[in-house]
Amino acid sequence: MTTAVDDEDFQAILAQTRQFVRTAVMPREQEILAADRVPDDLREQAKKMGLFGYAIPQEWGGLGLDLAQDVELAMELGYTSLAVRSMFGTNNGIAGQVLVGFGTDEQKARWLEALASGAVASFALTEAGAGSNPAGLRTKAVRDGDDWVISGEKRFITNAPVADLFVVFARTRPADDAGPGIAVFLVPADTDGVTVGAKDAKMGQEGAWTSDVSFADVRVPAGALVGGSEDIGYRAAMTSLARGRIHIAALAVGAAQRALDESVSYAATATQGGTPIGNFQLVQAMIADQQTGVMAGRALVRDAARLWITDEDRRVAPSVAKLFCTEMAGKVADLAVQIHGGSGYMREVPVERIYRDVRLLRLYEGTSEIQRLIVGSNLVKAAQRKLG
Ligand SMILES: Cc1cc2nc3c(=O)[nH]c(=O)nc-3n(C[C@H](O)[C@H](O)[C@H](O)COP(=O)(O)OP(=O)(O)OC[C@H]3O[C@@H](n4cnc5c(N)ncnc54)[C@H](O)[C@@H]3O)c2cc1C
Repeated sequence: MTTAVDDEDFQAILAQTRQFVRTAVMPREQEILAADRVPDDLREQAKKMGLFGYAIPQEWGGLGLDLAQDVELAMELGYTSLAVRSMFGTNNGIAGQVLVGFGTDEQKARWLEALASGAVASFALTEAGAGSNPAGLRTKAVRDGDDWVISGEKRFITNAPVADLFVVFARTRPADDAGPGIAVFLVPADTDGVTVGAKDAKMGQEGAWTSDVSFADVRVPAGALVGGSEDIGYRAAMTSLARGRIHIAALAVGAAQRALDESVSYAATATQGGTPIGNFQLVQAMIADQQTGVMAGRALVRDAARLWITDEDRRVAPSVAKLFCTEMAGKVADLAVQIHGGSGYMREVPVERIYRDVRLLRLYEGTSEIQRLIVGSNLVKAAQRKLG
């Protein structure tokens, strides 16, 4: 397996990221939470480190990490407020990978270098009634001379309030035998007719922003159609989401590791009746379950990333990894609150934030139910194909 970034260079990037997370971000988690904002100096530091383009190829100005390296980085980033990763998550993941995998050279040259140096791309797929089933989306793109005119409403779009570019999925025709009729367009955020709604008030991940985005007769040139083909959109979305699922799984492992570490250090020191609570075997059992989940998750994420790179499995393994790791992180975070007792319910305690932060991981980029459907249906279809 050859990679763009050799192991020595990658270890340096990983060590620098770990140091950024542990020494620059962790002391400011409460500040991020209270202000619902990642401070500008941390954003600038992340830009300087190349984190806005770590998964963008080097020829386009990024660090060029492959998915096996991406997941190691994600496990570090998951250790702190998930909002920090979210600042550049759409650039490296769902939005950026549409350009990397499906853009023309001209489109890559126009956008990828900008993203790698800190511009922000948002992935605009979801609509009311078209979340788990994006094939049902209703945003329309109509050809008008050399231009396309886009109209529709998107919701829950991560980074929309700070986006420079929207990667917008729109229907150019009704679904037919040739495919779902969905294309994808590159729409600069300052294009006439683009309106970004108010920031959503969310359960967790304070500092990561989402909002509605409306497109009212937004005119873009023919060159905005990704890959120059109307038939690329749905495949681009599915491929980008599948890759993203392995990344989200890794993020979940990082968050679960943090919840475990917080639990162990609390259990080792907090006392009841003079006895450290970690001496109680029922508390030890909770810690054992956390550790088991984290180790299993880490191994699964690494395996899924390897299978993606070798192209052995880009369908079932990403969903397996996302399903297991995000559900695992939810259970580990829940146990962490339990181990902390009443203090686990208090705002200033990290496990309270983790409990809310990780809840989202089971919802976006495909809910747990959708992952189960992907895994189950693919296994059954493969068996049926074998039988002829
Ligand atoms: C904070 C946040 C950030 C997001 N960021 C983005 C973004 O950047 N870009 C973007 O495009 N989208 C984004 N999303 C949208 C996200 O991907 C969707 O919310 C998610 O896919 C679920 O879709 P939905 O909300 O329409 O729920 P629904 O699809 O309506 O799901 C509701 C329930 O029904 C279940 N369900 C649905 N269909 C089936 C089925 N066929 N079989 C069994 N069960 C089913 C679901 O599993 C779930 O339990 C974000 C969402 C949130 C909350």
